[in-house]
Amino acid sequence: MREGLTMDTKNVRTRLLIGQLSKVFTNKCALDLKDIRDLHPKKILVIAPHADDEVIGCGAAIEHFVRKGVEVCVLIVTQESDRSIAKTYQYVPEQRVEESYEAKSILGYHELLYFDFPELKLPGDRGLQDRYCEELAALIEMRRPDCIFIPNVNEMHPDHRIIGQLSLLTISESINEQRLRRPAMVIYEIWGPVQMNSYLEISEEAYSKKIRSIHCYKSQMCSVDYEQIIRFIGNSRGSDLRQTGTKGGKIAVAMAEAYELHGVNDF
Ligand SMILES: [Zn+2]
Repeated sequence: MREGLTMDTKNVRTRLLIGQLSKVFTNKCALDLKDIRDLHPKKILVIAPHADDEVIGCGAAIEHFVRKGVEVCVLIVTQESDRSIAKTYQYVPEQRVEESYEAKSILGYHELLYFDFPELKLPGDRGLQDRYCEELAALIEMRRPDCIFIPNVNEMHPDHRIIGQLSLLTISESINEQRLRRPAMVIYEIWGPVQMNSYLEISEEAYSKKIRSIHCYKSQMCSVDYEQIIRFIGNSRGSDLRQTGTKGGKIAVAMAEAYELHGVNDF
């Protein structure tokens, strides 16, 4: 009985989320779209607000660049706090951390790092925001990535928005103060569309890894069916690309990840 109720709740949550997403994921392509495969970075840093955003937002990009031999590091900014969902579904924060390592082993990237900011606390706490900026500045100045994936500042989730804003601010300051050479900045989308100016076709292999890695997050999959969400966003962006294309013609892809790329002059 309890299992049945949980499944119903999960289906309702999933349908509601897809309904919300379908209102905002309308065609927002630039006319001359760039293929992200034309980027050739050496060191990538992916900034993910929560463990699982790296899979949903840019799992195919991680898969692509790892296959090309690029060093990819994922930074998870927040850790699970005592919010209600954890209590409802009876899992402990450590479980999500373990799940992120399982997902890492499927995507095959180089390194997984954690900051320890409590979930949903950054948006209203200037002290925590300052600490995030300091810790991120120290990290990027030590590691010097030449490509950084950053969450979209127009996301529905307040953690995604604030981490997107603070990350852009911190990276800009490091560049202006000449503590960091200008990296390619790739804004990616989780629950809110970017102004797409670049994309990556999700290959069958990448799609398979994306789905297998999101299924590692059992603590999250029990509340929403993120496989459906990933399929919805991928199909939606594939459809946008088929309708818009590039100067050279239409782009025939089934599924895609969309990005807003900045800081690359000789692309
Ligand atoms: Zn998130």
